[in-house]
Amino acid sequence: LTVLGLESSCDDTASAVVRFGAPTPIASSVVYGQTALHAEFGGVVPEIAARAHAEKIDLAVEAALQEADITLDAIDAIAVTAGPGLIGGVLAGVMCAKGLAATRGLPLIGVNHLAGHALTPRMTDGIAFPYVMLLVSGGHCQFLRVDGPDDFTRLGGTIDDAPGEAFDKTARILGLPQPGGPSVEVAAQSGDPKTFALPRPLLDRPNCDMSFSGLKTAVLRARDAVIARDGGLHEAVRADLCAAFQAAVRDVLVAKSRRALALCPDATTFAVAGGVAANQTLRAGLTQLADEAGLPFCAPPLRLCTDNAAMIAWAGAERLALGARDDMTLAARPRWPLDTTSPALLGSGK
Ligand code: ATP
Ligand code: FE
Repeated sequence: LTVLGLESSCDDTASAVVRFGAPTPIASSVVYGQTALHAEFGGVVPEIAARAHAEKIDLAVEAALQEADITLDAIDAIAVTAGPGLIGGVLAGVMCAKGLAATRGLPLIGVNHLAGHALTPRMTDGIAFPYVMLLVSGGHCQFLRVDGPDDFTRLGGTIDDAPGEAFDKTARILGLPQPGGPSVEVAAQSGDPKTFALPRPLLDRPNCDMSFSGLKTAVLRARDAVIARDGGLHEAVRADLCAAFQAAVRDVLVAKSRRALALCPDATTFAVAGGVAANQTLRAGLTQLADEAGLPFCAPPLRLCTDNAAMIAWAGAERLALGARDDMTLAARPRWPLDTTSPALLGSGK
């Protein structure tokens, strides 16, 4: 089964060809980023994103076919992100996918973007259900129990900011370049995480919910106190603050991961996805936790942890293999939760 995937839900226009069942499934994966387009606005501008997706999606498809060295004749199905995301971008992808499916008479399958992330470890490492997934990116932070291509249980997640967002805001507060994750991580290397005592929110709650917005405020307060004391922010102090922030994020994610794993004693694997999974301090903490739990730890390569279309093609293939299929009524959905939370598992209000 050879599937063409399309992804356009945020600020990356992507297309990929995936051969479901082949030993190396990814035949091609093309990602056109929009970072430069949005840079001067300090965030993704939906209108600009939508226009850029509409302009680039055909080119991305062409490039993906070319990189895989095939034509549309070799494609068996079209998979497309149908949400959640910025509606203009999702629409651009869905319209392009419908056009291809209709003119070629190919099956069309809509994919939840989060399902794409959550199923990536099956594409890269062939891990078996059920597994626990920590999805930790710029816009998302949640624990999922994954029982099948269409069977997700949300175990908990952030009640405010995502950690990637907190890294980006912390970088801004400390005068470090964007994206904040990598620059905070580099600065933290020469810092002492114990110099500043930052909060570990919600660790007293017996569930998998997290909060990261208070952490960013704590960094802001610590910075202002330092400036009042020293008359400025010296590089060594900034490094200490970065190290303290990073350690706090790691501690919260590790502690809540421990709870998520305890809720799923039959899990085969502890898997992680999302851009923040690139963080080495976090990875070390999560790897150690998985070791303690006696589970393999699976972190796909970074280019497949961040937004891409290979994960969409793969998730589409998994759903097609189950017999799922969409038609021309497929709608673009700005919001699309993967599941309804299971209150019995959680004891949480969310
Ligand atoms: P989403 O996929 O949820 O819509 P997104 O596209 O912003 O959001 P990703 O591309 O998965 O998310 O990840 C980007 C985020 O990851 C940014 O917030 C960035 O700061 C963070 N990040 C990248 N590298 C690191 C790192 N080494 N340490 C911590 N955070 C990092
Ligand atoms: Fe994403």
